[in-house]
Amino acid sequence: MNNDILKILYSTEQINQACQRLGKQIQKVYADKVPVVIGVLKGATFFMSDIVRQADTYMEIDFIDVSSYHGTTQSSGTVDLITDISTDVSGRDVLIVEDIVDTGRTLKFLMDNLTKRGARSIKVCTLLDKPAGRQVRADSDFVGFKVPNEFVVGYGLDYDEKYRNLPYIGVLKPEIYTNN
Ligand code: 5GP
Repeated sequence: MNNDILKILYSTEQINQACQRLGKQIQKVYADKVPVVIGVLKGATFFMSDIVRQADTYMEIDFIDVSSYHGTTQSSGTVDLITDISTDVSGRDVLIVEDIVDTGRTLKFLMDNLTKRGARSIKVCTLLDKPAGRQVRADSDFVGFKVPNEFVVGYGLDYDEKYRNLPYIGVLKPEIYTNN
């Protein structure tokens, strides 16, 4: 699996440092609140579990599964809700935890959806922000790294459901996806 990687963008150590920094920021912002922290499956699973353990503050956690990619490196343009949260977010402070914001469509879908359900406040924490990919407006409050306009995998991010278990974030060799 490691042989499929062209270059490492962020090492395990850099990711750990980013999680510590973001966890402390979240701790500060939510010090007097009990937010519902919603991880977006499946890409944000490792990131979610790492940052919440860096925040010494009360919170509830939940997960939502949405999908806009279907085994490719291009967003399909539509966002589907696969599995919903079980928490009632009406009147609650919500923190969405994303792996990466690219076109912004997934985030916009989630913001609109949670706003309709009456969330009191919605903030966004994303591990990676890819501003060059943006097609709709979607701003994050907490950002790990700004990434170049390349398709990245690892630390939760997949290509065709693989590579999520790489302990770092890297760029795939082009032949991996051009051969498919
Ligand atoms: P958006 O809706 O902002 O275009 O994309 C959000 C979702 O697309 C992310 O949660 C992620 O699952 C997927 N995605 C976007 N860019 C990348 C990328 O570079 N690598 C991988 N593996 N997934 C991406």
